[in-house]
Amino acid sequence: MILIRQVGGRWRLLVTLFGALSVSCATPPAPRSMPEATPEVQAPVSIPTPIPAPAPPKEIRIAAVGDIMLGGTATPELRKFGYDYPFEQTQGILKQAQIVFGNLEGPLTDGGKPATSKQYVFRSPPEKVAPALSRAGFNVVSLANNHTLDYGPEGLADTRAALDRAGIGYAGAGRNLAEARRPLYMVVDGVTVAFLAYSLTFPEEFWAGVDTPGTAFGHERFVRADVKAAREKADIVVVSFHWGQEGKTELRDYQVQLGHAAIEAGAAAVLGHHPHILQGVERYRHGVILYSLGNFAFGSYSNTATRSAIALLTFRDGRWQELRLFPLNVKNAEVVFQPRALAGPEASQMVGHLQQLSLQHGTVLENHDGSAVLVNDGG
Ligand SMILES: [Zn+2]
Repeated sequence: MILIRQVGGRWRLLVTLFGALSVSCATPPAPRSMPEATPEVQAPVSIPTPIPAPAPPKEIRIAAVGDIMLGGTATPELRKFGYDYPFEQTQGILKQAQIVFGNLEGPLTDGGKPATSKQYVFRSPPEKVAPALSRAGFNVVSLANNHTLDYGPEGLADTRAALDRAGIGYAGAGRNLAEARRPLYMVVDGVTVAFLAYSLTFPEEFWAGVDTPGTAFGHERFVRADVKAAREKADIVVVSFHWGQEGKTELRDYQVQLGHAAIEAGAAAVLGHHPHILQGVERYRHGVILYSLGNFAFGSYSNTATRSAIALLTFRDGRWQELRLFPLNVKNAEVVFQPRALAGPEASQMVGHLQQLSLQHGTVLENHDGSAVLVNDGG
């Protein structure tokens, strides 16, 4: 199933305007007889051809956050404060983007059977979480992760149904491998963006097979073929990977290899998840790789997942233009499942940390008033 969806109010407005136009065009004015033109002989004059004004560049912004899981130990607080509460402090940043993306780490279901092979299984109430995500601005999530089948195929089916009802797109999991590998296409202000998502994390039985449900495994040959095919239909291709080691800033070699492969095949941005903490940024060829976005609103009191960021990516005429990372406090002992933007010296400290991590990949981030910025100067 290829989903082509319209997002944002502008598209709807356009549809409304077209609707109004077509109504006014339905009753054309009665024809009037035109006065006959008097023929005149004139010396030929050269009339300069008007130069059409260049079309304004089409600029779109994509916000990307880390892992989202609105269950687990957050459940008592969410029942008390409501499911919009986790996003209240970050709305100002998320609302700057037409597309808001995150990794949905766990099924939205009240049913299914918990996986017996795992230490931690997550689920959260679909009728609460999906509408709250939509109200917060999320319109696309990755389902390619190591929790998607925590409540079996039924849990995955419930998740997809809940997201469909809330108007949120998804990529990276499905009833079979072909479905899991299929891109999600979104059209924003005339720009087509494709999302692909892959998981490289265990358990292996969560990876979709030819006839079995699950996540898309990130084989390099899948990634190259899927990105290339998506790029033929989309102006911008974004690839999400669930990969790396939990709690480590060091990358696995395969992260670099796959991140580069995705860009080489035509992706403009690669967004990584799973380590629960931030990893570095790499500018590679025409694209940008964010190796791990850390946690976002996540139902655990982890002492390692304390700092994170929201990424705001700007594209102009289909080309990645700027990355801006807003540092966040996600230490739940302090923020109680409500990520908060850092300011002042705390923000600058995080920018310094990101600068250090990114320098290992030869990428220099700038500190602009407490956010980490990378501009694509086309070089
Ligand atoms: Zn994970």
